[in-house]
Formats: sequence, C-alpha cells, structure tokens
Amino acid sequence: MSGNQTRLQAIEQITNRAPTLVSTPEPLSKIWAEDVFNLQKMEEALSKNAFKAIKKTVQTGGALDAATADVVAAAMKDWALSKGVKFYSHIFYPMTNITAEKHDGFIVTNSDGGAITEFTGSLLIKGEPDGSSFPNGSLRMTNAARGYTAWDPTSPAYVMHTANGSTLMIPSVFMSWTGEALDKKIPLLRSNSAMNDAAQKVLKLMGETEIATLNSSCGAEQEYFLVDENFANARPDLLLAGRTLFGAAPAKGQQFDDHYFGAIPERVQVFMQEFEDTLYKLGIPAKTHHNEVAPGQFEIAPYYEAANVAADHQQLLMTVMKSTAKKHGFLCLLHEKPFAGINGSGKHVNWSVGNSTQGNLLDPGQTPHDNLNFLLFCGAVIRGVHKYGPLLRAVIASASNDHRLGANEAPPAILSVYLGDQLETVFNDIKEGKLLTSAAGGEMDLGLAQILNFERDPGDRNRTSPFAFTGNRFEFRAVGSSQSVSGPLVAMNTMLADSLNWIAEKLEVALTTSEDQSVAVASVLKELMELHGNAIFGGDGYSEEWHKMAVAERGLKNLPTTADALPAFREKSVVELFESTGVLSPVELESRYEVYAEQYILSIEVEAKLVVDIATTKIYPAAVSYLSELGLTSSSMADLGIDLDNSLAASIAAEANGMVAAVAKLSEAIATKDFADVEAHMHFCADVIRDLMDETRAHADALEALVADELWPLPKYQEMLFIK
Ligand code: ADP
Ligand code: MG
Repeated sequence: MSGNQTRLQAIEQITNRAPTLVSTPEPLSKIWAEDVFNLQKMEEALSKNAFKAIKKTVQTGGALDAATADVVAAAMKDWALSKGVKFYSHIFYPMTNITAEKHDGFIVTNSDGGAITEFTGSLLIKGEPDGSSFPNGSLRMTNAARGYTAWDPTSPAYVMHTANGSTLMIPSVFMSWTGEALDKKIPLLRSNSAMNDAAQKVLKLMGETEIATLNSSCGAEQEYFLVDENFANARPDLLLAGRTLFGAAPAKGQQFDDHYFGAIPERVQVFMQEFEDTLYKLGIPAKTHHNEVAPGQFEIAPYYEAANVAADHQQLLMTVMKSTAKKHGFLCLLHEKPFAGINGSGKHVNWSVGNSTQGNLLDPGQTPHDNLNFLLFCGAVIRGVHKYGPLLRAVIASASNDHRLGANEAPPAILSVYLGDQLETVFNDIKEGKLLTSAAGGEMDLGLAQILNFERDPGDRNRTSPFAFTGNRFEFRAVGSSQSVSGPLVAMNTMLADSLNWIAEKLEVALTTSEDQSVAVASVLKELMELHGNAIFGGDGYSEEWHKMAVAERGLKNLPTTADALPAFREKSVVELFESTGVLSPVELESRYEVYAEQYILSIEVEAKLVVDIATTKIYPAAVSYLSELGLTSSSMADLGIDLDNSLAASIAAEANGMVAAVAKLSEAIATKDFADVEAHMHFCADVIRDLMDETRAHADALEALVADELWPLPKYQEMLFIK
C-alpha cells in the first residue's frame, strides 16, 4: 500500500473488480476449535493424572508443577507438529493496544547434522523476547532491559495459519526482570483474583457455605468499518492514521437510517463468512453480526467468556478481522471516528461476575435470598462507578476515542450508571428506608418481590448512558472500538473488589447489631446510596441539562479529552485502590500513565504531520490546477465574448490561502518543544494542535466543494461509504 494511488484510478480499479468468489461453508461441528489446544485435546493426549492437574489449573488458576508442564509441552508440540507447525510464539499484550509475538523454531540440530524438534516444559513456561522497544514507561532502563514472557495456562494455546506458514501461539504474560507487569494481562489476572477475594468475604458474611472461585465474564460487541482498499490506497490518512483527516460531508450520509440492520452487501457477507469460520476454528464463539448505523459500518459480537480468555480472544478477533478484510480487498477500520459527521465505532464491554455455586451475582435470580446477594453486588458497582468514575474515563481515553465520546451518538465523557426504572426505584427506596418500613413484623425480606424475574432488557434501552445495567450484567459502552478490553475489565474488577471490601467491613458490623440479615444489608446499602447514589442517572446523557447538572449538582466530572482524563491515574484514591487490592503497584500504575500519555501525544503529532503533508502536497496542488484551468478558460472564453463568473475563482483562492496560513501555524505548533511536563504537552495537543488541524480541514473541505470533481485527489466520503 502506498497512499499514492489517485482517486480516479481507485474508482476504475473498483469498477473493474473481479466478481466475488463464494466458498462453500463448512459445518460448525467440523471446524469448531480445530486450531485450539483446548481441554478436550489435552484429555485425548495426556495421562489421567496429568490431565487432572492441568484442568485444575485451567479452571481455578492454581499453580502447575514442573513435571506436568513437561508432559503438556510435549503433547502441545506433537499436536502442533501434526498440523504442519514449525514455529511457536509466546504471544503477549504490551501496554499499547497491540498484540506482540516473537517466533522461535521447534528445531534443534544434532551432531550428525540432522534436525530434531524440541519443546520442554521450561520452554513452554518461559520465553525471553527482546522486547526492549515496547513502551514500558521507564519501568525498564535499557541497561536492564530483560523482559520475560510466561505461559498463561488459563488461556488455551492455538495454531495461527498465515500465508507465511503456521505458528503455535502460547498466550503469555509479559514482565520485567524485576517482576513488574509490562502488559495488560497481568493486571487483569490480578484484578480477577482481588475481586474473588473480596466477593468471598461478602458471600461468607451472607451465610453462603460453599463458594467456588469467582471469575469475571466479558462479552464484547465490536463495531468496525470496511472501506475498499483501492480507496484506502489513495488516502494516506486512512492508511497511516486510520481515519479521514479531510473530507466534506456527503450529500447522503446516515440521515435515512437505512443501513442499520439492512441487508448486508454480498461482498461483505463473503468476508464475514470467512472471518467467522476462522474465528470458529480458533474457538471464538462469534454469535451475532449485523450492519451498524453508519453506511459501511458493521458489528460482530461473540458469546461471552471468562474475562481473561475473552480479552485474548478479542485481540485475536481484531487481528483476524483485519487480515481477512485485506484478503477480501477491504481495509478494516477500527478507529473510533473514521469519518467526521458519521457515527463512530465503539466496543460495548458486557461484564458480569459469578461462579459455579452462586451463579451470576449480577442476576437478580429467583428468590429473595438471591436478591440480597444481587443487591449487594449491584450496589458495589454503583459505588465503584461513583468513586472511580474518573478512572473509568481514563481507561478508555485515547486520541481516537476522544473524537467519539461526548459526540451526540456515543456516551458522554461523564461517567454515570443507568439501572433502568425498576431497579432505580428499588435503590432509591432503599436509600429512603422505605422498603424496610413496609415490611412490618415477621420475616424481613426487604419487600423486594418486584425484582424477582427481573425484566430482561433485550436491547439498548438507554443508548445515552456510558455504563448501563442490562438485566444480568453491566454494559460499559464508552469503550473505543480499537481498544483492548483489558483496561476496562481491570478497572471494573478492581473497583468492584474495593467496593466489596468496603461492604464486607460494614456488613460485618451491621450483622452484629442487627438480628435480621436483610435489615443489615439494607442498612449497608442505605449508607452506600447516601454516599454514592449520585452516580445513578436514567435520563438523556446527551442533553445539555445533564452536562450541567452532572457537574454542578451531582459533583461528577466531565473529562472531555484524554489530556483531562489521564491524570486520574495519579489521583491519590486511585493509587491507593490499585495498591490496596494488589493489582498494580504505584510504580506500575505510574508507568501506565506515562505510556498512555506518550501514545496520545504521538498519535496527535502523527496526524498533525499528515494534515500538513496532505494539505500541501495533494489539496493545494489540486486547487491551483483548477485555478489555472479556470484562468485559461476564462481568457479564451472572454475572447469569444462569454463572461465567466469569477467569483468561483476568488472563493477557491481565498480558501487555498486560508489553508496555507493554517498549515503554517500548524507546522509551527508541531515544532514546539518546551513543555513544563507531560500533562502540559497533552493539553497543548488537545487544545492547540487539534484546533489548528480542524482549521486546516475546514478550508480543505470547502475546497472539495469548489474544485472540479475530476481534479480532486482524495476519495470522497460518498464513494468510500457507499461503494462496496
Ligand atoms: P446488544 O446489542 O443488545 O447490546 P448483543 O446481543 O449484541 O446485545 O451483545 C450482548 C453481549 O453481551 C454478547 O457478547 C453476550 O454474549 C454478552 N453477554 C450476555 N450475558 C452476559 C453476561 N452475563 N456477562 C457478560 N456478558 C454477557
Ligand atoms: Mg450493546
């Protein structure tokens, strides 16, 4: 891909494209998880005892002994070799949103010059990639750059097939020589265990006797755009920044809402079929797909899984989606706002916590007894959103998601929680102490019969909330389409752990002073609601009134940009949250702040440079060519006595000059170097550079409407959005 194809060449290529080839789908039973070394395959390959040991580790996260690791490694290698694999890789997830891998051969040579394969337990367990160039936020100095990957047995290994051969992929954690987390998986695993510890305490106090290990679950809905690669090749901005930095609004956008759930174009269907079959082979349960609101936008949602596995699968899904799209002549855009004025893409992270003995703790269940557990866990989430709202905003902050949050199609940049009418009433009644007074005498049951068989919310009932209860889970809707789900999951699990710890402390006291369990629960929840009920909001999150009220009356924070949001990582309460739960040490947390801030600054600088480049080398020349054409034409026309309207030329000249002036200011801003600190630098990007980019764009987009169509260099919105 070069970015140098012209727009007219792109249109010609697309017009002459070969017809779409439809392959015959294979039955699910044949392809499901065929490329995954899952428990089923281990059971076939291992002795009874070895299988029992590894199964226990997979299901509870407990330690694995070296001897078992050796036999698992041998079986894994045999299975992979039987599939034509020659290389293996510890795959890991650095602090950026990417997936990293380094490939090693199974091969070793012997003294006779022959080649054999080798893969021991220690090779399986530990790898040492030269990962010194991964951002680590000064956690590793280059002179102490050793980083290790270590096998995560709770996420299954799999084989990845590419044109360049097949590789055994081993999901791993990534840490520094001193044991600090350099990745997104370690905090996720730790947050899960902190949540489990706290939940165990609460459930024990509630009189539960058998309590299995609790785990969090995640089902992520992924939105994306597909653009024909020929158009992408003519748009350096799409190729390098993942979004259009220029482009006038099309005559037809999404006004008609005719794309949402409409018929999927055939070429896209064929792509989806191959994409989903690949997911099935990799054991990823793709469940629904449909067109999204914007033209050219689609969604895929796999069935939910344990958070750690879901997070790995989500990363894999994004990789497979991009590579499959490429095979089908599309560029897959995961950017949160590829087209100005057209809906952006999010990733709704559906999240719940549960275990095999109590089930899903965010499901109201069938009995009042379940209701009490449910209310405590739901209350814990409310407290978390209130107390750590800025943290939830910070973990979804990125240069690209800033374009989407707060726009009138995506959740606001203010974190509140939506419960639905029924549940909101219940919590407000608890706050007022109403439910208790209504239950006079006899066994107290909180009078909560109304939330039994809680009405499930089949769809997005309140699309304007960033964080919504949807019947048996919470849906974090403000997450960006290109982001790893790990950050949000870590924040949710950790805030829940903290709230459950708080609840456990209060409940223990309340239970000693009150004979009745439900009275004790109600008193704890009443206090919780008094302190944190302000986070609950069921109205229109897009409205001006809410923006005012949230800040002025509720004391919630509106953090519109990443520059505003990231400093939450440095707040005392957040540092304490992560330290007290053991999820991230202060150094590890600070390193994340540094990495994310740097990423933010880099992405805006790359975009700004692209704006200068495209405006100067593509748009300005087009405007000037057209002006000279108009000049020539008007003089020869004048010879013939025809009076050409020169106001067009004047408008073009004015816009071109305006653009050049804006570009000059932008270039100067990009060259600015002296900043007091990283926060000041972020604000400069957010407040100065982005404004100058917008100013340049405004002139360029005006030119698009004036310059002759055949001279315009960049594919236009209506072409990219509607030609499939
Ligand atoms: P909608 O578009 O209405 O939000 P979808 O059906 O597209 O809903 O996606 C819902 C997602 O939530 C799916 O990934 C689904 O598997 C997941 N999900 C369902 N129940 C739970 C749960 N208890 N915990 C976590 N995720 C869940
Ligand atoms: Mg949803």
